[in-house]
Amino acid sequence: MDLHRELQVTWDHILKSYKPGAIELMGVIITQTVGFIIPATLYMLIDTLFPKFSQRHKIQGARRQPTHQQVLHCVKVSLFNHLWVVALHGILVWLTGLDHATLNLDPIVPPWKEFIGDFVFGLLAREISFYYIHRALHHPSIYVYIHKMHHKYVTPVAFAAEYAHPVEHILANVMPVTLPLYLKGAHILSIMAFVTFELWEAAADHSGYDFLKLPPAELHDLHHEKFRVNYGTIGLMDWIHGTDVVGWDKPKAKQAKKDE
Ligand SMILES: [Zn+2]
Ligand SMILES: [Zn+2]
Repeated sequence: MDLHRELQVTWDHILKSYKPGAIELMGVIITQTVGFIIPATLYMLIDTLFPKFSQRHKIQGARRQPTHQQVLHCVKVSLFNHLWVVALHGILVWLTGLDHATLNLDPIVPPWKEFIGDFVFGLLAREISFYYIHRALHHPSIYVYIHKMHHKYVTPVAFAAEYAHPVEHILANVMPVTLPLYLKGAHILSIMAFVTFELWEAAADHSGYDFLKLPPAELHDLHHEKFRVNYGTIGLMDWIHGTDVVGWDKPKAKQAKKDE
């Protein structure tokens, strides 16, 4: 039996056994747990269980690392952000009734090429929307009110990915990842697969480790260290706008980039 067929059999069983609203809510909880909470906890365990390996692979030096208390505070806020987003989704499901789902629960599991198409679409839509939202959040007139909170961790740890002001959490963390595929009408399984990847990517980007080259954690780590560089997630929009080099906004760096 091939994997797609097995997935279809499991999906048939789930649709027969549970109400649509319950399936959707469980999907959200599983995605958050598998995509973020488990990987972020594993990154934290590397710090604690393998300190020598951890020191060798940290992008920024040991003296710049946050204290245990700061890490604990980060974990609490990050988990709280996850909790209230799931709670809001739970309220939405409760209001619309368990017999309805807001996401596409089509009984036919999409073919692999649709999963891949959704993935590429989601990746590009997230890169473009996140880049501009993130750059707007860095605008001097609003930076201190919202985005400054996320930049508390100059040397980030995995949980710092979701350490953000509630407005930023919705605008920059939740919407760019979920909204494009929702509007496209993608299947819930496709959305779950994509969001799981994106959450893991966010945890890896903030992990502070150099051993993961995909995604390249150094890009966003440098953003936390130097602020005005690498606003996107995969480097594409920064390459287009020339914001992929520290000092891009200073006349000298602009000229040097032109001369390359
Ligand atoms: Zn960040
Ligand atoms: Zn930023």
